[in-house]
Amino acid sequence: MITFLNLIDEPKYYAHVRQIRWPNGLKCPKCGSETVIRNGHDHYHSGRQGYQCHGCRANFDDLTDTVFEGHHQPLKVWMLCL
Ligand SMILES: [Zn+2]
Repeated sequence: MITFLNLIDEPKYYAHVRQIRWPNGLKCPKCGSETVIRNGHDHYHSGRQGYQCHGCRANFDDLTDTVFEGHHQPLKVWMLCL
């Protein structure tokens, strides 16, 4: 699948998302725990870091529960707004 994501610097983009989302450090989106371990990378987007919460065992990644998850077009618009 060809998307605009192929045209931008993905690791940089996800690093930016992380910075906006967790300016004070990583937190579990489900329970709010700060004890989170890295849990590999997304299959298709190598810059998209996966995590597992140590408290509730929830799996999530950089885009989980954000407006960007699964929506390519709004994400593109968002990038243009930066
Ligand atoms: Zn949790």
